[in-house]
Amino acid sequence: MSFYRSVAERVNDYEEVELSIPIEEFSPYAQYCRSCGIPFCYGIGCPLGNLIPDIIAFAKAGRWDRAWALLSSTSCFPEFTSKICPALCENACSNNVSNYPVSIRLIEKMVVDKAFELGYVKPFIPAKRSGRTVAVIGAGPAGLTIAEKLNRYGHLVTVFEKSAYPGGLMRYGIPNFKLDKKTIDRRIEVMSASEINFVCSEEAGVDVSPAFLMRNYDAVALAIGAPIPRDIKAPGRELSGIHYALDFLSSQNRVVAGEVDALEISAEGKDVVVIGSGDTGSDCVGTSVRQRAKSILQIDIMPAPPAQTPTVWPDWPYKYTTSSSQEEGGSRLWGKLTKAFEGENGVIKRIKTIDLEWSYGANGKPASFKEIPNSESYINADLVLLAMGFLGVAKTPFIEGFGLSVSERGMIGDNPPAFSAGDCRTGQSLVVRAMADAHNVSGKVHEYLISLKK
Ligand SMILES: Cc1cc2nc3c(=O)[nH]c(=O)nc-3n(C[C@H](O)[C@H](O)[C@H](O)COP(=O)(O)OP(=O)(O)OC[C@H]3O[C@@H](n4cnc5c(N)ncnc54)[C@H](O)[C@@H]3O)c2cc1C
Repeated sequence: MSFYRSVAERVNDYEEVELSIPIEEFSPYAQYCRSCGIPFCYGIGCPLGNLIPDIIAFAKAGRWDRAWALLSSTSCFPEFTSKICPALCENACSNNVSNYPVSIRLIEKMVVDKAFELGYVKPFIPAKRSGRTVAVIGAGPAGLTIAEKLNRYGHLVTVFEKSAYPGGLMRYGIPNFKLDKKTIDRRIEVMSASEINFVCSEEAGVDVSPAFLMRNYDAVALAIGAPIPRDIKAPGRELSGIHYALDFLSSQNRVVAGEVDALEISAEGKDVVVIGSGDTGSDCVGTSVRQRAKSILQIDIMPAPPAQTPTVWPDWPYKYTTSSSQEEGGSRLWGKLTKAFEGENGVIKRIKTIDLEWSYGANGKPASFKEIPNSESYINADLVLLAMGFLGVAKTPFIEGFGLSVSERGMIGDNPPAFSAGDCRTGQSLVVRAMADAHNVSGKVHEYLISLKK
């Protein structure tokens, strides 16, 4: 269940599309938690292990202090996940067996709103400092979680961030209409008041070397995300008008924030084709709608998912969904492989595609494909946005400077005093998973720091 502003209203601005609603207004189904003996919602659903049934019980009783105490005991920043998490917990909810899960994410959002309103979210300055220092590289959800946790353990933390402001993909990738950046600013204020030091517009590896970091800090935690975007190697890729989705989205976010005056890439008046149908692709659709594109088409190599999932609860459902951005405009085509980009005078004009026939595995999911002979077709395009995921971290002198290697899948690990957390360690994922991973890694860093001889 979710509550959105009307499409007619929301496409005219970049304000959040989703509304906050008091629990009394939820349908009986949406608030009916069975308080299961074995709660799948947090056992296998929530990567953070949020104590969901008890949080809901306190929220329904109006005990916001207790609800917040429980929620913040496992999650450093529920204000982020309560707005943008795909709610793995709701999928795992026992009531989801009959397709009526409890609206856990919205209840979480309400607890967060109350906690800030009632002044429960306060800076935390440890009574005693450990005398140990940590440099955290990257201020996305993983870096922020490590900083928060290690500060609470008493270590002095400095966060280096190459962008102008902290937040990582939450600030520069996810559009404002899904996550208002004031939500991030409010948290950074609390963290700064907790003596966590933020050094922005400073790129580790360029402005500060690995040797400098290891000389000046007792531990270094790399939380640098998985920045390499997946590309399409097809003829015509060099034409102008073909961009990575993140460049398009971050350009709009920087304009909304007032960081820059003009868009670097605009969809206005253009036939926009988004390649990729995941979250990032959907964000490109919502942004193109607001920029007043002439037409928006999303294409995907995969076949259209079925209306009914072949998977069984509590496995993640494989089924057709429509995001709030997809409700706002555009259309979708499935099973299309991009064969070539064609243009005039160096500028993209159309995409040549071929249709695919997919075979399905025993689990009901697509397994392999073959091209359907003579099914080539052309799609008009004067802006192409590549939204096909991310490949991980590149092997650079910066990474090697910590004695770290990059796996075949583009991930890095640990080599104390250097540790890694979030998407750079696990591969591209979700905010909640980046936070959960960083939560665990901060424990390892803490153990390492207290094992050091004084
Ligand atoms: C368009 C888009 C939409 C998404 N939507 C959702 C969503 O709705 N829900 C959801 O759960 N997840 C979503 N995700 C995924 C989610 O944003 C990521 O999984 C999450 O942000 C990863 O967190 P992280 O801290 O590991 O990395 P990031 O958020 O990528 O943060 C890494 C930070 O490190 C900084 N950095 C990198 N190298 C250096 C360096 N050398 N020196 C200093 N700083 C450096 C970067 O500037 C960045 O700020 C989305 C992703 C994208 C791209």
